[in-house]
Amino acid sequence: MGNRCVIYRKLHNLTHPMLSSILMLHRVVEQRSDSHSQRELEVTPNFLEQTISDYRQKGYTFISIDELSSLLTTHHSLSTKKNVCLTFDDGYQDNYDIAYPLLKRLEVPFAVYVTTGFIDNRLPMWWYPGEHLGINTESLKILDADPLCTIGAHTVSHPRLDTLSPEEQQREISKSCQSLESLLGHAVLHFSYPHGAYNADTLSIVEHQPFLTALCAWGGTVRQGVNPFLMPRIELRQI
Ligand SMILES: [Zn+2]
Repeated sequence: MGNRCVIYRKLHNLTHPMLSSILMLHRVVEQRSDSHSQRELEVTPNFLEQTISDYRQKGYTFISIDELSSLLTTHHSLSTKKNVCLTFDDGYQDNYDIAYPLLKRLEVPFAVYVTTGFIDNRLPMWWYPGEHLGINTESLKILDADPLCTIGAHTVSHPRLDTLSPEEQQREISKSCQSLESLLGHAVLHFSYPHGAYNADTLSIVEHQPFLTALCAWGGTVRQGVNPFLMPRIELRQI
């Protein structure tokens, strides 16, 4: 990277204060898998609790995705508070069984982005062959009823959206949103891209849904002026 790029980025960062980090998680399990690709998606409850405590010790406040969304549209002085937002992708039953009691005890808001085909294991999670890890309807409704939790959409079948036609993308995105809305009885305002994958068609479809935000799978911290439909995240990984 040339000097000019470095200077530009520093100037950009000075004039666009950091609003929050968004941490991306998947599963919370007592015993992590042996398989490397599965292990990457898993953290233990002890690790999660330690991470929360570390952030709090450094002066961070855990905020909900709705709070973050409203921060995007308000004006800030340069000294913005340090915020962090916790998100879980796919819709695993362990988010309810293991993560929820811990987050409830610590009073940490969080969001779960649900692939609607995985609810009640109607579709398999092919990266966990033979296992039935999808959240059940009852648990999802209990999570949704708790103000600490926000339910977002994450398509119907978890495809790479950038490999689909605009019509197929439209179906994946709007059907997942509609199913969740009819299940939960209210609007679903947040979305995350499966595999972090999108193209220009995806963006124009997502922008025409009632969503307030759409989250990517990488990209660092959220700064003022960010595109709300391309919100960067930081993957939380346990070594
Ligand atoms: Zn996913």
